[in-house]
Amino acid sequence: MKAPAPFVAKERVLMGPGPSDVPSQVLRAQGAPTIGHLDPEFLRCMDECRAMIRAVYGTENTMTLPISGTGSAGMETLFANLLEPGDAALICTHGVFGGRMAEVARRQGAEVVEVKAPWGQPLDPEKVAAAGAGRRFRVLALVHAETSTGVLQDLAPFRAIADEHGALLVADCVTSFAGVPIELDRHGVDAAYSGTQKCLSAPPGLAPISLSERAMERVRAREHEVRSWYLDLRLLARYWGDERAYHHTAPVNAIFGLHEALRLVLTEGLEARYERHARLSGELQAGLRGLGLELPVAETHRLPPLTLVGIPDGKDDKQVRRHLLDRYGLEIGGGLGDFAGKAWRIGLMGASCTPRHIALCLSALEDALS
Ligand SMILES: *Cc1c(COP(=O)(O)O)cnc(C)c1O
Repeated sequence: MKAPAPFVAKERVLMGPGPSDVPSQVLRAQGAPTIGHLDPEFLRCMDECRAMIRAVYGTENTMTLPISGTGSAGMETLFANLLEPGDAALICTHGVFGGRMAEVARRQGAEVVEVKAPWGQPLDPEKVAAAGAGRRFRVLALVHAETSTGVLQDLAPFRAIADEHGALLVADCVTSFAGVPIELDRHGVDAAYSGTQKCLSAPPGLAPISLSERAMERVRAREHEVRSWYLDLRLLARYWGDERAYHHTAPVNAIFGLHEALRLVLTEGLEARYERHARLSGELQAGLRGLGLELPVAETHRLPPLTLVGIPDGKDDKQVRRHLLDRYGLEIGGGLGDFAGKAWRIGLMGASCTPRHIALCLSALEDALS
């Protein structure tokens, strides 16, 4: 075959549900010369990444590392390690990603009990407690920031509910990581996973995870070996811990990028970053309402990094998004599940959360709708 021309994509402005725009510093860091995955220089980079991931999660957990794979690989890692065949899992579903957790847990051979909230609304902690009344569960899992609906779920009530069921508390923090406060230790979350391409604004490909000592005790006490060799935390801990034993070749350059993205987060400061997401999402929402658009999620539960916008009657979802992409190079997200064809999803994540992004999005939408 004759080689095609070098692949160079058109420039885009990313305001969908992820990936978000990646700062040039992160791309440059990722483009540095590759070094060995056991090189002492690289080990230093790994250790700094782990410390920075702990800071963003608000945890002291030793078992904190980036899984080689996207956010879903982080999800699969936790369920593969925490659940054994026949274990009961209480999974809260109020959107696509809760549904995915239930599916992943089922595939581990767990007996899954799902508690559902309507799409676009948060979970009712009392209903969750009632759904599992009188039963023991190995895990209680929920999504902190449901990117499919734009709902932020308060984590605070769930530690006590998990305790009633003797369960480990697992949280999907894919879209909250570096965009809204998480505080794993304060909320007593035992295990969490995230991804790099949402509010962290690094390219997709890694999944920062963190597990409490109690969660790791569960992993060590397993009766059956973890079915996945690649995602086995006891093996991964030997590479990421003091032993530095080869498991799989770490994606060295992706971790260079992760290091820089985390460094940018801590340089900005966590509080400042959360404040920026909260303030600018308020500006975006005011602008959208100014265009006569409806925001289906109640203000009290809106997720700053992702806003759900109702598609006005008579407007074609795909045609509008195509217009934004072709004319402005602007990507926003379509609706998923119950909101397919009925809503758009506009992301303000990390480097994509600026006044410039908001101004472009509002004027481009105004044009596309007229
Ligand atoms: C994006 C996302 C995921 C899945 O992450 P991938 O990187 O696409 O595998 C899981 N949960 C939530 C809440 C997400 O937004």
